[in-house]
Amino acid sequence: MASALTDKLSRLVKEIRGQARITESNVADMLREVRMALLEADVALPVVRDFIARVKEKALGQEVMGSLSPGQALVGIVNRELSRTMGEGVSDINLAAQPPAVILMAGLQGAGKTTTTAKLAKHLIEKRKKKVLTVSGDVYRPAAIEQLKTVTKQAGAEWFPSTPDQKPADIAAAALDYARKHYFDVLLVDTAGRLAIDEVLMNEIKGLHALLKPVETLFVVDAMQGQDAINTAKAFSDALPLTGIILTKTDGDSRGGAALSVRHVTGVPIKFAGTSEKIDGLEVFDAERHAGRVLG
Ligand code: GDP
Repeated sequence: MASALTDKLSRLVKEIRGQARITESNVADMLREVRMALLEADVALPVVRDFIARVKEKALGQEVMGSLSPGQALVGIVNRELSRTMGEGVSDINLAAQPPAVILMAGLQGAGKTTTTAKLAKHLIEKRKKKVLTVSGDVYRPAAIEQLKTVTKQAGAEWFPSTPDQKPADIAAAALDYARKHYFDVLLVDTAGRLAIDEVLMNEIKGLHALLKPVETLFVVDAMQGQDAINTAKAFSDALPLTGIILTKTDGDSRGGAALSVRHVTGVPIKFAGTSEKIDGLEVFDAERHAGRVLG
């Protein structure tokens, strides 16, 4: 874990060795290395700054300054702080609601919302033994509705039809009614994608949230977005009471910095990671394993 950074730090530690004690400037050198590693991992700058400030505060305390191996002590602090920022342990989907438990999917177009809706349906069917209904509120792209139908079938869930001439709120209300009458445990609501933050669509999804009162409002974000993920995350987090994040396309992203950024700005747990285009390419997010990846 954290090998490249650890190597860099141990080089610094060697330089420091021979000096009577570790100084504030030694710590500053080490923190500079940590900062570089985070920026190389594509963590957004404000998040890096905040992170370094927190590590510095701890590092200048007794823990590192008084330690016999300050480099190792600092690495320990960095790793612990990284895991803490990334979220500890794992958190599954919350279904504690009067059935059907509604899950609202939010995110930019192309983030992987529709694919992830089906992946999640499959997960809930296989791992949680739930009866799952999906519906698309994306009336702007008829292809998106069809796409959800196709992937829902692959997932083994049921798809509730919608058409581009309907209002998203009407679709949502009809799907909810159907789910209740047919004893579905979960209703997964895929929403309109947008290319950028768009006020009209933000208001639309806020309206859907008010109507559906979802037990989970999941923000789906593309890990490859890197630095930009922070702005998208902030906009969605300001508009909606998010309960979790699904980080998609982690298979194409070797750096992993987006996870730290989105977690930092939203404060909600990353629940799953998308690991391929395939319907079973979804894993429960493991914060500690991911923290190791960020430091490379
Ligand atoms: P939406 O516009 O947000 O609904 O996005 P889609 O579900 O249509 O996904 C956009 C593209 O990303 C599709 O080509 C998906 O196959 C792909 N995709 C989604 N999730 C993943 C993932 O975890 N890994 C990879 N490699 N591709 C993904």
